Amino acid sequence: MSGIYVYSDRLEIAAELIGFAKSGGQAAYALCFSQAEADQLASRGADKVIYLKGDSPLPENYGKALADYLKEQDAELLVVGATARGRDMAARVAGYLDCGMVSDVAALDYSNGQLNTERIIYGGAVVQSETISGFCVVTVAGGKFSPVSGQAEIKTVAVQADPRVTLVETAPITKEGVDLKQAASVVCVGLGLEKEADLKMARDLADVLNAELGCTRGISEERHWLPVEQYIGISGAVIKPQLYISMGVSGQIQHIFGVRDAQFIVAIDSNEKAPIFKFADYGIVGDMYEIIPLLTETLKA
Ligand SMILES: Cc1cc2nc3c(=O)[nH]c(=O)nc-3n(C[C@H](O)[C@H](O)[C@H](O)COP(=O)(O)OP(=O)(O)OC[C@H]3O[C@@H](n4cnc5c(N)ncnc54)[C@H](O)[C@@H]3O)c2cc1C
Repeated sequence: MSGIYVYSDRLEIAAELIGFAKSGGQAAYALCFSQAEADQLASRGADKVIYLKGDSPLPENYGKALADYLKEQDAELLVVGATARGRDMAARVAGYLDCGMVSDVAALDYSNGQLNTERIIYGGAVVQSETISGFCVVTVAGGKFSPVSGQAEIKTVAVQADPRVTLVETAPITKEGVDLKQAASVVCVGLGLEKEADLKMARDLADVLNAELGCTRGISEERHWLPVEQYIGISGAVIKPQLYISMGVSGQIQHIFGVRDAQFIVAIDSNEKAPIFKFADYGIVGDMYEIIPLLTETLKA
């Protein structure tokens, strides 16, 4: 079955990758390594769900089996969600197949057997365009494509998992932050905020909008006012909310990388030359200490 094969250990990203494959009119085959994943993927619009069934609970133990399967099927392209586990899987498959691999692309287009990709490099200052022909593996972060829906048949293929690594235990870690990727609205604070106590002003606005609170890297990594899960950008969360409101965020490219797929960007900054205004749908030039309380009160009324 030639066509585009997609894999992600995160269901929502897998659904988006199926959306990518279908948007180009290609056949989309969703790969997974457990019955539970197969059942969930079956309603996500793929042409077929391929469940590679072996005796290991670790997806990475199926790297060789997946590579062999893709070769046997004469696959055109493997698109993998750029999670930690997905990147691991992509590298294994590309290694076993000795084929081209492009990692963490910001944009991709596949037509007539040719893949065109764009990658953001040098910390977000440069876009690098690449072209690959022949079978290759590409990884892409979540939030780039719209998911589709539709019922698919599940095909179970018995395979041999690599037995050398075995799972001993998984134990949950309590996270302090919120899942910004799921948020419909995000209020983002930047280094324009003078003191930690002023986060209340941002939280009040977020509460009125039923939004989550996000921040720039400096707020979490330098000032430690919010957990690292809450900073947005190329090295933080890449989000796709309907509404993103920034306050005291200058809009450097490393931050913008994480919000440029937001539907509406509203920026509040005292510097009219702040780069964020180039990306904003609505901009307010002024002191956020005056504007935010007014905005919050107006929205409450
Ligand atoms: C390799 C690399 C990766 C990076 N990754 C990320 C990343 O993932 N995410 C990220 O966020 N950053 C990242 N950065 C840092 C990034 O380059 C910027 O330094 C950072 O985004 C700037 O944060 P900021 O906008 O909060 O602060 P600043 O750039 O200092 O901007 C503060 C803004 O607040 C405004 N302001 C001040 N007072 C007020 C007021 N009273 N009312 C209204 N506005 C006011 C100022 O005019 C200014 O525009 C990265 C940098 C590098 C080198």
